[in-house]
Amino acid sequence: MEQRSLAVVHYHEIALKGKNRAFFEKALVFNLRAALGADAAVSRIGGRILVQYGMAEEEAREKLKKIFGVKYFAFAKESAAEMDAIKKTSLGILDKPYPSDFRIEASRADKNYPFTSDDLMREVGAYVKEKTGMAVRLKHPAVTVFIEVAEKKAFIYSEKIPGAGGLPVGVAGKVVVLMSSGFDSPVAALRMMRRGCDPVLVHFHSYPYTARDSMENVEKLATVISHYSPRPIKLYLVSFLGVQERIVKSAPAALLTIMYRRWMLKIAEEVARRESALALVTGDAVSQVASQTLENILTVSEAATLPILRPLAGFDKEEIIAEAARYGTYGISSLPYGDCCSLFTAGSPATRSRLTDVKKVEGLIGEELAALAEKALISAEIKYIL
Ligand code: ATP
Ligand code: MG
Repeated sequence: MEQRSLAVVHYHEIALKGKNRAFFEKALVFNLRAALGADAAVSRIGGRILVQYGMAEEEAREKLKKIFGVKYFAFAKESAAEMDAIKKTSLGILDKPYPSDFRIEASRADKNYPFTSDDLMREVGAYVKEKTGMAVRLKHPAVTVFIEVAEKKAFIYSEKIPGAGGLPVGVAGKVVVLMSSGFDSPVAALRMMRRGCDPVLVHFHSYPYTARDSMENVEKLATVISHYSPRPIKLYLVSFLGVQERIVKSAPAALLTIMYRRWMLKIAEEVARRESALALVTGDAVSQVASQTLENILTVSEAATLPILRPLAGFDKEEIIAEAARYGTYGISSLPYGDCCSLFTAGSPATRSRLTDVKKVEGLIGEELAALAEKALISAEIKYIL
């Protein structure tokens, strides 16, 4: 009988205490199904998840690598949990020419078998040794045959593939991510998704003062991000020009960037309210640029009441870029774009802004800005990105 293509998926044990376990596993099963398509069969079995899929192994590998919550996975052959069948299947997964040495690593999900893990290692080891002529080597063997026994079946493979780690997208709730097309915010979005957050993206643009390229880049980034999500990514494209023009008329040049950021947060917070999101996310890294000094982070943060999560706060640029490369956003973030934040700003913002100065300006034009912000949100373009 021909074997179906099968992957065994393992997840982190830490989150599995108490009630969380079923919730976590269900979310992971849901996300696996979403990634592998309607014809995939996904089921929980003895503390792991089995995936039977209909696509090429390479394609399945790429998809499985992007699913947060997966600790590692393996493409496996299945056999009955009987010694003879396990022996034959173990031999069958080894490619010729056989390498010089091997070891067997066995585990049982429960104890209802006529053999122990040690029996498996000894007996299957002796069989493979006899049939192949390979030596048994416990430390650093050329190949390890892994045997997992669960619910009367055995799953046998020789390669453990590291997963994306973290928690399944969706288990933590929704967040609104302020997304530019730079390097930082896409990585911030993915970092939070890895902690179980479901992202809604908000991008501010100054079209037609700046070209459409920032929007196009953000849409491309959202596509990359969507490959890590079981759902299409909702993206708000918000014209920020009206708010900016009003700020420019009344605020000192040194405060422009700070005030832009505050009003971005205020609009993003309104999006969060509509979307029932529980936090805002930015790509800020402390001291990276003038707008990200602790003083400016303080002045900017006061504009919002929801928690502002800054997963990259302690990262340096090299670390962020390495993550961008790993997640696949690097190339798009390298593309040129017109940044709305530098519009009308001459040089750097104040590095030590004071809230009292900002409040003075907002005391005068705050109501007008609120009306413009509302208008911007009402006319936002909303896209679902697959
Ligand atoms: P990034 O690489 O994410 O653009 P950056 O280092 O360029 O970050 P800033 O431009 O100072 O830093 O932006 C800081 C954060 O403010 C960004 O990470 C992002 O969360 C938010 N932000 C900046 N510009 C925009 C924008 N046009 N639309 C939405 N959010 C923005
Ligand atoms: Mg930027």
